Amino acid sequence: TVNLCWFRRDLRLEDQAALYHALQSKHPVVPVFVFDKHILDDLEDKHDRRVTFIHAVLEEIQTRLLKMGSTLHVFYGTPMEAFQYWTTHYQVAEVFTNHDYEPYAKERDTAIAGFLKEKGIRFHTFKDQVIFEKNEVIKDNGAPYTVFTPYSRKWKTVLSDFYLKSYPVQKHIANCYQQPPVKIPTITDIGFLPGEAHFPARQLQEDLIAHYHETRDFPGVRGTSRLGLHLRFGTISIRRLAQRANTLNETFLNELIWRDFYQMILWHFPHVVGQSFKKEYDKIQWRNNESEFQSWCNGQTGYPIVDAGMRELNATGFMHNRVRMITASFLVKHLLIDWRWGEAYFAKYLLDYDLAANNGGWQWAAGSGCDAAPYFRVFNPTLQMQKFDKAQHYIRQWVPEFDTLQYVAPMVSHEMARKRVLEAYAKALKR
Ligand code: FAD
Repeated sequence: TVNLCWFRRDLRLEDQAALYHALQSKHPVVPVFVFDKHILDDLEDKHDRRVTFIHAVLEEIQTRLLKMGSTLHVFYGTPMEAFQYWTTHYQVAEVFTNHDYEPYAKERDTAIAGFLKEKGIRFHTFKDQVIFEKNEVIKDNGAPYTVFTPYSRKWKTVLSDFYLKSYPVQKHIANCYQQPPVKIPTITDIGFLPGEAHFPARQLQEDLIAHYHETRDFPGVRGTSRLGLHLRFGTISIRRLAQRANTLNETFLNELIWRDFYQMILWHFPHVVGQSFKKEYDKIQWRNNESEFQSWCNGQTGYPIVDAGMRELNATGFMHNRVRMITASFLVKHLLIDWRWGEAYFAKYLLDYDLAANNGGWQWAAGSGCDAAPYFRVFNPTLQMQKFDKAQHYIRQWVPEFDTLQYVAPMVSHEMARKRVLEAYAKALKR
């Protein structure tokens, strides 16, 4: 008899809630993972860097488990097929996993829990990917917050060492089930192509974070942690990171609180997937011009800071936060293209793509989200560039032709676009 620990966005063997609880129970633990066809089949790019990343991380975990005489069991198919297989292959007593707040994940987990229940197998789930979830930080009247600043204030009041404590997985890791190695499917087995694999380091650069509040807004300097990918897939623990942030830099801690905030919003207001948080924003008449959208995607708008951002994204899977705000604002406000188009494009290319944060960021830029930028604020991309890339390091790196005749002319004039978007928003919002 064994217990299963189902890994999803918590791909590590340290400070992992479900794994810790599984190891504490009386049966040996088989760590399992599903390469989920439902998710993989939706990815158009067969070189998807996220798939390469996950695969590499699973191999690392496997190497460590093999040294202990244990193995990770990876299944390619749907989660239901995986559990049908595992429950016949092993004598399973209990299944342990961590919470996932996305609508698809919630549905998947309900289905799996139902399946296991019929077989008399208990399904245990734990909080792991955030510090506070669901109703843990709410207003005094019991309602969820929809504005960040009071949420973050309350978050800090509720915080205690208890919530930051690491789970001592290492002490119990020997309780993993001993069995011969199970081979991990190759990238080609799961329908993808092996690709280049350069990923940001999994380490918090503490000297950098000490200056985070001064450097984080400048895309030409290395001023942010670049840990988004690792937080997304749980290759680092949010508790360990928040412990360090709490002593190192409050501005950095606030960014981690934004992450909790958007997960909380997604949990309480799942309609944000596909719809504006503020319903009246769905009345906006978007122009949705396909060829203008392509110019934006390809970094050919004629606004250097916008083009640099899009080219950085296309080439590396990363874009600096300041530039995410500028490019998003440009698409929605200057081109009057539906924020959902931009959201989908980022979802396809960002290494750190996360439904909650990406949706929150896009709705913030469109003005349609909770605690969003006011609708009448239209970033001026030229002024943004002068302010945040004064020395032009960032622009020169990504748009080397920007001060030559080869560079495309601006596709819209700022003044015209500003007037046009204000009229369109005013009409929809009846202001
Ligand atoms: P740092 O500045 O070092 O911050 C540390 C961590 O805090 C980040 O890795 C991230 O996990 C979290 N964080 C920081 N800012 C935010 C924020 N505003 N909202 C939520 N979490 C935050 N972040 C994502 O993780 N995934 C996305 O898909 C995503 N899409 C975005 C789309 C738009 C339009 C905008 C404006 C922002 C988006 N962000 C997203 C938020 C932010 O831009 C990235 O988290 C950040 O740029 C990642 O770089 P970093 O790891 O160096 O972050």
